[in-house]
Amino acid sequence: MISTDLSRYFDNAATTPLDPRVLQEMIPFFGVDFGNANSIHSFGRKALDAVELARKRVAALIGAEDPYQVLFTSGATESNNQVLRSFLRAAVSPFEHSAILEPARTLGHSTLENDGLIVLPPKDRPELVSLMSVNNEIGTIWQPNSLSGSATYIHSDMTQAVGKVPIDLAGISFASFSAHKFYGPKGVGGLYFAETPPSTWILGGEQEHGLRGGTLNVPGIVGMGAAAQIAIDEQNVNFAHAERLRAIVLEGLEGCTDWQINGGSSVSPYILSVSFLTLEGESLVVEMDRFGYAISSGAACSSHSMEPSHVLTALKIDENWRRGTVRISFGRLCTAESASGLSKSLRHAVEKTRTIY
Ligand code: PMP
Repeated sequence: MISTDLSRYFDNAATTPLDPRVLQEMIPFFGVDFGNANSIHSFGRKALDAVELARKRVAALIGAEDPYQVLFTSGATESNNQVLRSFLRAAVSPFEHSAILEPARTLGHSTLENDGLIVLPPKDRPELVSLMSVNNEIGTIWQPNSLSGSATYIHSDMTQAVGKVPIDLAGISFASFSAHKFYGPKGVGGLYFAETPPSTWILGGEQEHGLRGGTLNVPGIVGMGAAAQIAIDEQNVNFAHAERLRAIVLEGLEGCTDWQINGGSSVSPYILSVSFLTLEGESLVVEMDRFGYAISSGAACSSHSMEPSHVLTALKIDENWRRGTVRISFGRLCTAESASGLSKSLRHAVEKTRTIY
């Protein structure tokens, strides 16, 4: 069944629906306001003004002192790659998204050790350490600046934090994020730098002060700015809404047997990771889809891989629990009613799947 009921969409960590107000602001830039932001005539200037307004809004959302510190990219994957390519010796946490782990591996960077959810500082003082602010699978919140002093530069992948939870840039040298995680368009994101700019990776033009070549994606950037402004205004209400929905789902699951919550005590209210002993997360996702609910068994970027989650593996979670993990991620279109319906359906799916196994 294809669900058209957006209140049943509980996969907001994978992506959020585009806010219609954002779309309205973007539309002229697909049409009459088509200018190239780097042209000096009036068509270009109109596009540039819109880009610079978006830069101010994004800077305000993350708390950057100067809009100049925000570069527009195609998303967090690109931002992460650009930062990791700027250093010869970097170390990344084992809990990172594949958009950090993959480039880190290719570039020969090292992986930090962990003691449960605690990420241990590196022993050999690399140039850069990278620790995400909110984990995309289990919602754990880390304070990346707790690693200040163990490297010259600190990078944080803030993709699951920006627009959702308060951002603290103190001690952060670089931060990455994507617009589509906070009701903006896909394919556009940002890279914040405190003082030292990243090295230029995409060569070919003088855009973004020479730090990223290529004609600017004006409609996308405008959309990201509009989404940032809405997040500034509505973030607190959305946060409280997510907290409430999370509590409703947890309460509804109380009657289940053999289940556990992952992520520790400091978690984003937007992400709920639960494991059901001896079950398969994928079977639950399929079963829930039949009820019209969208949840996931982990990160969308690795949902076609049958490899166990590297996050749960780093936490040494027993395989019998690890395999039965699902992620429920809340958004502002989810309602108290749909959250309660989700937990009922999930309990039903768990019981049904357990009788099959
Ligand atoms: N980092 C994290 C923590 C994410 O959740 C995601 C998106 N799943 C990314 C990076 C990559 O973002 P994008 O696909 O928009 O480049």
